[in-house]
Amino acid sequence: MLRMTDYIKKSLEKNSHMDRHFHRRIVIWNITNDCNLSCEHCYSSSGKKEKDEMITPEHVLSTVKSLKKADVNAVILSGGEPLMSPYLFDIAKILKEAGFATHLSSNGTMINENNIAAIKSLFNYVGISIDGSEKTHDGFRKKEGAYKASIKSLRMLTDNGINAGLRTSLTSYNYRDLGFIFKLAEKERVKKIYISHLVYSGRGSGIFEINKSVHKKLSLYIAGKAFSYVKNGIPISIVTGNNEPDAILLLAMFKRFYPEFYENMHNKILNWGGNQSGNRIINIDYSGFVKPDPFFKYSGGNIKKGDFFEIINKDELFSKLRQTPRKLKGRCEQCNYLRICNGGSRARAYAVYGDYFQEDPACFM
Ligand code: SF4
Repeated sequence: MLRMTDYIKKSLEKNSHMDRHFHRRIVIWNITNDCNLSCEHCYSSSGKKEKDEMITPEHVLSTVKSLKKADVNAVILSGGEPLMSPYLFDIAKILKEAGFATHLSSNGTMINENNIAAIKSLFNYVGISIDGSEKTHDGFRKKEGAYKASIKSLRMLTDNGINAGLRTSLTSYNYRDLGFIFKLAEKERVKKIYISHLVYSGRGSGIFEINKSVHKKLSLYIAGKAFSYVKNGIPISIVTGNNEPDAILLLAMFKRFYPEFYENMHNKILNWGGNQSGNRIINIDYSGFVKPDPFFKYSGGNIKKGDFFEIINKDELFSKLRQTPRKLKGRCEQCNYLRICNGGSRARAYAVYGDYFQEDPACFM
């Protein structure tokens, strides 16, 4: 993920460095596949309970030590809809008491007066998924009233002093609503907008792909917003995910606006390292399988049978993903930008070519 506004701000400071927070290892843990919605683009095809699909507090307790050993700093609890899990708060408590930063990733329809105090005490940050305007959102979520419920939750979070932000997956269905998302974030005074580019996985497979020239324009628009927020002191962090070539555009724009600080930005982006699946980003799914990111079909092992630290360090695919530079094929192999983006999404490469080391088929560069 690329924290655009943070990188711009830091690069404009002389002798600045990105603190540890920017290079921390994050686990995205899908603790359940159960969901009260059935969204068109869901990467995990959530909605129905499957056998063996729940993570229990016992699974988390037995994994905490290994997460620490692997230098994991933050855990994002996701789903399905994590609030569908009867264990969510017990799991968050274990993680919080063990010293992890805890994030909740929710569709926002189940946050209410009964659980807001627990959310406040157990989570450092809550991301609410909003796809666009009410019409777009409810159409995508296939549920009338879903937008209103999510906005109500968002306000409840911010009114209670909880760090909250918007999460949007960019697809051919909703990209025209991107401007709406930024206006909404400003109006609702959220701390962060996280924009995830489409990865072909689950119900999001291929069907919502945006053509490359439009995709590039959208990324330029997002980067432009990041510069404008920094310039105008708008305190919203803009972060993009699953499309590391965004950094190439950000860097080029930065050079145009602030040539005197370019080297600073360039070094910081090289240290950031592009796509981090299997390295600083790791996924554990609702059955306990450990994957390089939530969009991978491949798993290196299961925390119910093996040790997290051992799995990520001994598995061959994980090791190959951590190679710098990655040994990639196709356009990525000779590309001058490889040191910046690290080859983009490997899960997208697999979805199209059946090979995790082929080129990223969505790259617009
Ligand atoms: S072709 Fe590959 S290496 Fe080059 S910018 Fe695109 S994703 Fe990155």
